[in-house]
Amino acid sequence: MPDKKYQTILLFGAPGAGKGTQGSILATVPGFHHISTGDMFRTLDLHSDLGKVFYEHSSKGDLVPDEVTIELWKQYAKAQSILGVFKPYEDLLVLDGVPRTTKQAELMEEYVDVLEVVHLVCHDMDAMIKRLRRRALRQNRADDAREDVIRNRFQVYLEETRPVLEYYPADIVREVDAVGSPGAVLQHILEVVVPVQEAHFKNQLDD
Ligand code: AMP
Repeated sequence: MPDKKYQTILLFGAPGAGKGTQGSILATVPGFHHISTGDMFRTLDLHSDLGKVFYEHSSKGDLVPDEVTIELWKQYAKAQSILGVFKPYEDLLVLDGVPRTTKQAELMEEYVDVLEVVHLVCHDMDAMIKRLRRRALRQNRADDAREDVIRNRFQVYLEETRPVLEYYPADIVREVDAVGSPGAVLQHILEVVVPVQEAHFKNQLDD
């Protein structure tokens, strides 16, 4: 377990809002470490017990059960810190795709200090569906290839994930316009996360 909680920024938004794209770009900036639970799950061997659990849920557009998800996430973050690719004392952790339920937010409370929630807002459902379909083709993803599965993913988002926004204090939730080119969206995200990084950087110098 970390002796200190991970200092964390959450990338939040509906499927197709661009969390993964933006998270990977942020990860190229020193001092940010990006973890996507979707990517974490996709690295599992589909023949393993956990891989089978993942496939069973994700192929229908459903969420993997909370306890399994948070346990795996915890071990994944820990493994990365042991390998030295994630430096919890220096890096800000950028989480994408987790927590996805209020229960997950509660289970993670022990391990993360959420400094800011970046809510990528896109009201254009068609644009998001188009993004998902393009990605399904590129990445060969079973969950985004079928219209009914995509619809279920949005339903699950509205019912289970969106309420997570209310779990955090309103003053740390920042809305960012997710419509536009990746560069424009990145610019909006940087406007809200750079001050957090500045403060984190300064705290480290003072420690
Ligand atoms: P994503 O790439 O973030 O859209 O995730 C793909 C799939 O992985 C989701 O539809 C879920 O089945 C599963 N998944 C990813 N993150 C979580 C999470 N935090 N909780 C439960 N299931 C998740």
